[in-house]
Amino acid sequence: MAGKTAQSINPATGEMVETFSPHTPSDVDAALGLATGRFASWRTTLLDERARLMHRAGEVLDAQVSRFAQTITREMGKPITQAEAEVKKCAAACRHYAEHAGSYLQDEIIPTEASHSFVRHLPMGPVLAVMPWNFPFWQVFRFAAPALMAGNVGLLKHASNVWRCALDIEDVFREAGFPEGCFQTLLVSSEDVEGVIRDSRVKAVTLTGSGPAGRSVAAAAGDSLKPSLLELGGSDAFIVMPSADLDKAVATAVKARTQNSGQSCIAAKRFFVHADVYDAFTSRFVAAFDALKVGDPTQRDTDIGPLATQKIRDELASQVSESESAGAVRLTAGRNLPESGAWFAPAILAEAPAGSPAAHEELFGPVASLWKVDSLADAIAHANDSAFGLGSVLFSNDDADIDQAVQQLDAGATFVNSMVASDPRLPFGGVKASGYGRELAADGMRAFMNRKTVSIA
Ligand code: NAP
Repeated sequence: MAGKTAQSINPATGEMVETFSPHTPSDVDAALGLATGRFASWRTTLLDERARLMHRAGEVLDAQVSRFAQTITREMGKPITQAEAEVKKCAAACRHYAEHAGSYLQDEIIPTEASHSFVRHLPMGPVLAVMPWNFPFWQVFRFAAPALMAGNVGLLKHASNVWRCALDIEDVFREAGFPEGCFQTLLVSSEDVEGVIRDSRVKAVTLTGSGPAGRSVAAAAGDSLKPSLLELGGSDAFIVMPSADLDKAVATAVKARTQNSGQSCIAAKRFFVHADVYDAFTSRFVAAFDALKVGDPTQRDTDIGPLATQKIRDELASQVSESESAGAVRLTAGRNLPESGAWFAPAILAEAPAGSPAAHEELFGPVASLWKVDSLADAIAHANDSAFGLGSVLFSNDDADIDQAVQQLDAGATFVNSMVASDPRLPFGGVKASGYGRELAADGMRAFMNRKTVSIA
């Protein structure tokens, strides 16, 4: 194992906040042993008791929103009000799974000639979650709440820039009273993940992150014949048709593109606007972008903070400048931003040509790419001309448009007249290079379960 020291760096200032010593191979071995031992008793713990503890985890989160939100903002720069909302959403997910696990786990009765035939959902064991920094609490809870309610136990390998969040999340489950070993954080680097996946005590792996990370995790899981679930990147289309409510479309477009300072997998990233409303939409869209408050993420009126790391900022800057060199036109005004820290001015790029990064890559920051289209068919063809297929949005009040978009957009979700959002009640996931499998709702809970067929003659 590589054993690199990890650092939390405040991206608003560039200052180092904390350093962490990684776990040693024998720490990891002990954690896997503990997880295996705990699974033996946790799988038979009554559902009511699991639910009591999961409700308690929600209470622990609700009681310490401010503490956890400050950790999030300090480590990855999210505006504080959004960090608080993220912690509250995690508490709601805990409550959702505490309340609904019983119905999600019910036997599925399938009548046959046998006297009883049904599918029963049984847990698999320790599940490894490899998670990203962008929603450092939410991504973990959307895995952990269903996994623990299902009777599995969780192992977290969090992104190396948010290890205080990772340790805080472990605290939540400990403070809630979950038995030791139900949920453990492994402080290991990405090079150490393959060894953990291949360990026979780990039964499945889920990853939320980039395509390269997904490929390497899926390869190790496939080679070890273990199930994997991948939630990867996206470059979601946002289509605006003439019948749309333009005020609502513009307000939603701004939020969908700039929430979390633009670093969201399900952010709308490519905007296709019908020629009949293009000018009206664009002038309002640009004005709204220029009015966004960019600055100190600890201030409650900040719309956009820094990007999470200098590396992410530099990568976005090079994608934007390459797109401009290829012919994309920047419509938004320039800004003076602090010199230290990972700052990037929000921008709208019009008519980025085919082949440029804005047209084909994921831009992970507050940059919208905009094109004028002649028809819905044109918009859908452009939307589908992407390696990704996570979410998609249509703004239209025409039923025929809605049917066509739902049927033809190649994406894991289509939201009509609202932005794509994750919701514990709805399955979540992508197609194409955005990954496979579904999290949340009943699908998320059953992702890592043995759906055992039972037939009693
Ligand atoms: P990332 O670099 O892939 O990192 C994600 C996690 O994977 C981190 O814990 C990272 O650890 C680990 N990792 C990286 N390379 C790995 C490898 N070769 N083998 C095993 N683990 C590896 O992604 P990111 O930059 O943090 O996150 C941004 C990406 O995630 C974007 O593409 C975004 O769209 C996507 N995302 C998708 C969803 C979704 O639900 N579909 C949600 C959020 C984000 P280290 O930090 O130690 O490298």
